[in-house]
Amino acid sequence: VFASIVQAPEDPILGVTVAYNKDQSPVKLNLGVGAYRTEEGKPLVLNVVRKAEQMLVNDESRVKEYLPITGVADFNKLSAKLIFGADSPAIQENRVTTVQCLSGTGSLRVGGEFLAKHYHEKTIYIPLPTWGNHPKVFTLAGLSVKTYRYYDPKTRGLDFSGLLEDLQNAPSGAIVLLHACAHNPTGVDPTSDQWEQIRQLMRSKALLPFFDSAYQGFASGSLDADATPVRMFVADGGECLAAQSYAKNMGLYGERVGALSIVCKGADVASRVESQLKLVIRPMYSNPPIHGASIVAAILKDGDMYTEWTVELKAMADRIISMRHQLFEALQAKGTPGDWSHIIKQIGMFTFTGLNSDQVAFMTKEFHIYMTSDGRISMAGLSSRTIPHLANAIHAAVTK
Ligand code: PMP
Repeated sequence: VFASIVQAPEDPILGVTVAYNKDQSPVKLNLGVGAYRTEEGKPLVLNVVRKAEQMLVNDESRVKEYLPITGVADFNKLSAKLIFGADSPAIQENRVTTVQCLSGTGSLRVGGEFLAKHYHEKTIYIPLPTWGNHPKVFTLAGLSVKTYRYYDPKTRGLDFSGLLEDLQNAPSGAIVLLHACAHNPTGVDPTSDQWEQIRQLMRSKALLPFFDSAYQGFASGSLDADATPVRMFVADGGECLAAQSYAKNMGLYGERVGALSIVCKGADVASRVESQLKLVIRPMYSNPPIHGASIVAAILKDGDMYTEWTVELKAMADRIISMRHQLFEALQAKGTPGDWSHIIKQIGMFTFTGLNSDQVAFMTKEFHIYMTSDGRISMAGLSSRTIPHLANAIHAAVTK
């Protein structure tokens, strides 16, 4: 009965790793997937995460019962504080409902399904370009997906006037997906003045902000600074949604830890919203897993562990920034044609190199360097040792 099923294409991002794994070359380099690597090219488990896991293992009072549909209660409270700020009036007024979800992706999906079911406007505007999974997540959640202009290939920066024009022309009430910081794939974020203009325009048109916060702490190294855009939208008293992921900032990728928060106008609304979120989650996966959220809660609630986390997080962010400088300097030293200053201007895990799909294919074939065909490279996958190889490949690709 399944004989007529056709082969599905590989996921454009995860497929890069599949191709990389098949390559036998000793110099092969995977810059496709957005996962942090050490200077030695190894995955990193934070010390503070190991410590929290030890604590959990040694605590014999812990059992493996099902969690509530909404997840670990402490984790939810602490996650809301992390993104909205410890002194957020919305939290103090109990206007926020937070549910534990399956990392960032699951949080986006639950938020999307909730909106498709209960919100009057079914169109969500996502930036062009955006993380490749966004359109699929929201379409399957039952929303209709449109794009707003975001990136200008000519300046390799923000197309701010295009962005404002597209949001201005969106129907009143439409949902707008905003990357909270470290926009993926472009590494281009609005300035705080631009965020303020976006906020004013969106509020004047009653556009509903849905923040995707997958990189809090990774852009600047400061958790608070990276949450500023979200907090600007909460400070005005209006509604918003926020999907948080702990994949990158705590290195908990495979533990699938995230949270969806919905900021409402009042405590009674928030409690009704939560009751409906449970109806979205229950038939999807019943309730979320315990382990990852318990690690996060243990770290967020303990002053010393929290500080240790911020130090380790800053070290990851700093290493990425240092890779930017080293790559930029290597290209300058080689005299590679073109302006490469966007490598040091862009923010977060990725550089949107501006290399086209032909050049990417050339670099993969000739240099065994793997990246998505849009020319996005994960800076976290580089090291001082591999930068000369990448610089040689880029030089060869643009001068061929
Ligand atoms: N949003 C963005 C912009 C991302 O880059 C990612 C991860 N690549 C996610 C959401 C979701 O990641 P996860 O489900 O692993 O938390």
